[in-house]
Amino acid sequence: PSYNQMLTDKIELQSELRRAIENEEFVLFYQAQMDISKKKIIGFEALIRWNHPVRGLLHPVDFIYLAEESGLIIPIGRWALNSACKQLREWSDMGFTDITMAVNVSARQFKDENFVQMIYEIIKETGIDPKRLELEITETIALEDLEYTIEVIKELNKIGVRFSLDDFGTGYSAMSYLKRLPISNVKIDKSFLDTVLEDANDQKIIQAIINLAYNLDLQVIAEGVEQLEHEKLLQKLNCNMAQGYLYSRPVPKEKAEELLNSTEFLN
Ligand code: C2E
Ligand code: CA
Ligand code: CA
Repeated sequence: PSYNQMLTDKIELQSELRRAIENEEFVLFYQAQMDISKKKIIGFEALIRWNHPVRGLLHPVDFIYLAEESGLIIPIGRWALNSACKQLREWSDMGFTDITMAVNVSARQFKDENFVQMIYEIIKETGIDPKRLELEITETIALEDLEYTIEVIKELNKIGVRFSLDDFGTGYSAMSYLKRLPISNVKIDKSFLDTVLEDANDQKIIQAIINLAYNLDLQVIAEGVEQLEHEKLLQKLNCNMAQGYLYSRPVPKEKAEELLNSTEFLN
């Protein structure tokens, strides 16, 4: 019975997902990305939520796989990109011209033949500075077809859009392909920070990732920074960019604006 229930749930959720865009049920939350040496917000990562009329606020883990499976990730992903860019424009108009906006891109979106065109259009429509947009892809996406990945990234690099490699360290993380990818950033996966205070090997891995990135002229941002000890360690390892609950959880737009306006984060 529980299996049947699961299946019914899944089918139900999938058909609801189809209507969620027109019903304007999706919402973006924003998580601050910090320069820890300056205690300053350098940007935000946009993280999607589904404000489900019955089930309440759903997190990506509850529905992104369904969106991927059904192909609905294409319109949903476009909605997320467009909304994030509109928000970036709004904040830029408010005077926050230096911040970046990071948006997650899933495999299916990245491989879609209209991907580059869609990004061009969104940038044009929203009038954002393309240099302020950062697209996050994972190693798995990047490596699936390395030549194609390089081509797509280069095409978007031309107008200034930058790329980050998300969840770094969990995949291959090999020098050979990393040096060929025209990315700007690597994000150290949260799993290393989760156990770093107990496991000395994790510290060595983090150190290795940071060195690897700096040798390739890439920026490094650590995700999942929850404790002050994490921050101290990162500073010791010369990593100045961080994101995590220590600074802020992903929050709605209004709260993100409060963070931008608050002096707590300024020097
Ligand atoms: P991700 O890109 O690796 O995002 C980081 C996840 O870690 C987020 O979960 C964030 O809320 C959480 N997180 C951030 N700091 C901390 C921390 O200090 N401690 C802990 N325990 N967790 C932290 P979230 O928002 O549930 O997103 C999950 C995944 O869903 C994302 O993983 C991303 O892959 C995907 N996703 C989110 N928004 C979008 C979107 O608009 N489009 C696509 N294609 N995927 C998205
Ligand atoms: Ca991400
Ligand atoms: Ca990540």
